Amino acid sequence: MPKSNKFCPLPWIHSYVGNAGFYQACCINDEYNIYNRSDQTGKDIHISDGLSHQEIMNTKYMKELRLSLLAGEFPEECSRCKITESLGGTSRRMTEIDQYQDKIENLIDNTAPDGTIDQPIIHADYRLGNTCNLQCRMCGPNASSKWIKDYEKLPDHLYNYSSRKRMDEFKKINWQQSSVLLQEFEEKAGALERLHFAGGEAFFTPGMEIILQKCIESGEAKNITLSYNTNLTVLPNSLLEKWKQFKEVKLLVSIDGVEELNDYIRYPSKWIDIDKNLNFLDNHHLDYNITEILISTTVQMNNILHLSKLYHYLEKFKFIIPIPNLIVLNMPSYLSLLALPKKLRMIASVQLEDLRKSTLEKIPKNYEYLLGNLDGVKKRLILEFDEQEQKKLFKKFVEFNQIYDQKRGIELLNVNPELAYFIS
Ligand code: SF4
Repeated sequence: MPKSNKFCPLPWIHSYVGNAGFYQACCINDEYNIYNRSDQTGKDIHISDGLSHQEIMNTKYMKELRLSLLAGEFPEECSRCKITESLGGTSRRMTEIDQYQDKIENLIDNTAPDGTIDQPIIHADYRLGNTCNLQCRMCGPNASSKWIKDYEKLPDHLYNYSSRKRMDEFKKINWQQSSVLLQEFEEKAGALERLHFAGGEAFFTPGMEIILQKCIESGEAKNITLSYNTNLTVLPNSLLEKWKQFKEVKLLVSIDGVEELNDYIRYPSKWIDIDKNLNFLDNHHLDYNITEILISTTVQMNNILHLSKLYHYLEKFKFIIPIPNLIVLNMPSYLSLLALPKKLRMIASVQLEDLRKSTLEKIPKNYEYLLGNLDGVKKRLILEFDEQEQKKLFKKFVEFNQIYDQKRGIELLNVNPELAYFIS
């Protein structure tokens, strides 16, 4: 098999179970609702279907995905990586290539001409349902159960059609609380090197700690790097104690703004709790085998003009990476940067350039890609502008925030006074 410049190791070694319990090639595919389908039934494969991981990894879909990547093509489901790379950013694909450099040749050599493989899963990722304690405004009922009631009340032009169609499914997500999760995990546990959890809020899901306990009892924990996406509003003691048994723990903490802006975007979280937990982990990371804490920031309409405050806040930490990983929000489009008025785009671009300059000297080795992601945000501000579309989206942005804020007694202009001029 030839080496390809679009190769990605994940479709060879990775298992991803999304919030609703369906298999996908990786987390980025989630955004496009592209699932791995069974050859036999033609239906999306669910964790409770009980298929072996060899069957799941060798469906027609997975074989074709691997062959496309080997042929140097970006298949449709890999659009997010394609866009990120075209804007000069560091895609997940690139990060995974760095991580698995020493395995790639072997993976390619052991792929049959029709794309079939016989590889153990070494990296598993579970999005543990939609049980969450927050209702972040850019989230939805697929990832937060708190969104279900309000989502059904949104006017037609503000909802995402595929989410609306799947509301019944979102109301009943419970696979993460059943024995199915543990049974499925046990089949792949033996060779695991990396185990990632996200939610909902992963720290809230009892099934996650049951899996950790299983790894500890079997002796496998010491070989596994654990990682999480978390909102860090809670930090259970029972979890901290289990982390001590693992090879290492890496945290990706979702923070989109500090103080009042955090409370506004990630309602009903309280900044005071998050700040307390960050300080605790910064001081005690060695006690719990934590080797990395990186802030993951979803760049969107509500925070694009306030990123410098977050960068400034992170300067106080000794261990937490002082630069956030900026990820541009795509959906819903009216909360994305596509809705930002032209004048504010220019202000935001200048701010990003200033951040770049002030960050350059502080950036730790191995984290230069964070600068690439900052540059990617700037490029999107400059390149992706269509005035008519922007005006339409801005109107929806204001309407959505008014609906969301009304019953919570919060106000857009309190956190984003810069928008006042554009709201008639
Ligand atoms: S190329 Fe990107 S989207 Fe495709 S499988 Fe790899 S990480 Fe996922």
